[in-house]
Amino acid sequence: TDVTTLLLSRIRDVADYPEPGVMFKDITPLLADPAAFTALTDALAGIVGSTGATKIVGLEARGFILGAPAAVRAGVGFIPVRKAGKLPGATLSQAYDLEYGSAEIEVHAEDLSSGDRVLVVDDVLATGGTAEASIQLIRRAGADVAGLAVLMELGFLGGRARLEPALAGAPLESLLTV
Ligand code: IMP
Repeated sequence: TDVTTLLLSRIRDVADYPEPGVMFKDITPLLADPAAFTALTDALAGIVGSTGATKIVGLEARGFILGAPAAVRAGVGFIPVRKAGKLPGATLSQAYDLEYGSAEIEVHAEDLSSGDRVLVVDDVLATGGTAEASIQLIRRAGADVAGLAVLMELGFLGGRARLEPALAGAPLESLLTV
């Protein structure tokens, strides 16, 4: 569609970043273009409607940039999932494995409860490790996962298949797949 073409045209490929052999998808040109950023925000807000989500959880850091305006547009609350050590209140945390080493993410425990239907938002789905840990965190907080929405899915990394058990039937909506 026209929106797909617009969004794709505003993503920049950066070779060998952050390390040799990686083609990094840089969304900053899209954020700098108000027509593209508005189209993206509207598309994400539409997914809130189609999934019946009552909250957006955004994943640090680009999931904040995409998720926050979509939450405002859709009229739902926004909740940040942050890297460990950044949130001041009582948190739930979830560790997960990276290619080398591990990472930990956190959410304020009081921000999610049973009855919430959460749409998880991030910019890029790569291996799916970050999204998988986020889904586990949301479930442990007692909330339901309404779906996962990403701007771009890197299909060759197999994140969709990896997330199938965690999503348990909830939709994975990627606006672009490469
Ligand atoms: P995953 O956990 O392997 O799926 O990696 C996804 C996380 O890494 C997301 O939070 C993305 O923001 C980030 N990421 C991975 N690859 C890219 C990329 O090419 N561009 C932007 N972000 C990326």
